[in-house]
Amino acid sequence: MKIAVIGAGAMGSLFGAYLAKAGEAVTLVDIWQEHVAAIRDQGLQLSEAAGDEVVRLDATLGTGGLEPVDLVILFVKSAATQAAATDAAALLRPGGRVLTLQNGLGNAEVIAEIVGAERVLAGTTAQGATLLGPGRVRHGGRGDTHIGRLSGEADAFCHEVATLLTNADLPSVVEPDVRSLVWGKLIINTGINALTALLRLRNGQLADLTETRQLLTLAVEEAVLVARAAGVHLPYENPVEKVLAVAIATGQNQSSMLQDVLRGSLTEIAVINGAIVQEGERLGVATPVNRTLTLLVQALEKNLLPS
Ligand code: NAD
Repeated sequence: MKIAVIGAGAMGSLFGAYLAKAGEAVTLVDIWQEHVAAIRDQGLQLSEAAGDEVVRLDATLGTGGLEPVDLVILFVKSAATQAAATDAAALLRPGGRVLTLQNGLGNAEVIAEIVGAERVLAGTTAQGATLLGPGRVRHGGRGDTHIGRLSGEADAFCHEVATLLTNADLPSVVEPDVRSLVWGKLIINTGINALTALLRLRNGQLADLTETRQLLTLAVEEAVLVARAAGVHLPYENPVEKVLAVAIATGQNQSSMLQDVLRGSLTEIAVINGAIVQEGERLGVATPVNRTLTLLVQALEKNLLPS
């Protein structure tokens, strides 16, 4: 299968490197010139717990001049989803598909509007990665990837993609209910990301203080009310316990939102806590805690607070 990864930051580089190591024809596409140049010149430096290695793979600045592909894996941050999906649409061969494992609510729907819902595979991954610099990525946590079709039942293409990832040492399973997957991860991110970003805490520290446990609980309970009103079946029984368990299990991690704030980058707040607020408004569920967290992170993004 011919593959392009659009958005070759932390996660795109990780997935691209694993697919390339498994012998797949994969090209990384990004708009970050220094990063693309470093990968082309020196290969991608992949830092693993077991040691570092250099992975050789194709990288290009933008999609211009690329041959059509069977699969686009879209790994930009949510603010760039529309632009990346437009590039994906032009790059896909007829019948080709886009896979998104991005965090937050609405990415798959934005892609669907551009390429057609029947061509979208979506899901979640428990793999983690951090960019160390141009051409350098650290593989963080490992875990399963769950994928399914945004519209329609899982078909041969969907199973083929799961097998392709699994064979590349990115264990993946096909799931029937993509909404449940995406909301399940959304609620975890709702409880962890904004609080760690605002308070500059590692994930595990949220479980240590009474105050942060209480804030996490309030944000998650609100999000669960919204999920229920939306008719979503969550993939776990006790959401607050689940979010606390994930915070503890990933205790040493800096959430992606904290990393964004520390780098001075835009965060994905609008599609995480902000999405809970929006959905709450649509469904008549009050979300004062998530609204407050959203506004605080947005103020932080605008650099209104001295660091
Ligand atoms: P990142 O910021 O490291 O990478 C995004 C990349 O997209 C950057 O290199 C950027 O230059 C590139 N980009 C921006 N606009 C583009 C465009 N129009 N075309 C091509 N490239 C473009 O982000 P990340 O941490 O890899 O996260 C990607 C997505 O995966 C997010 O939705 C995130 O929430 C999700 N995610 C991240 C992790 C993690 O551990 N980092 C884990 C699970 C899910």
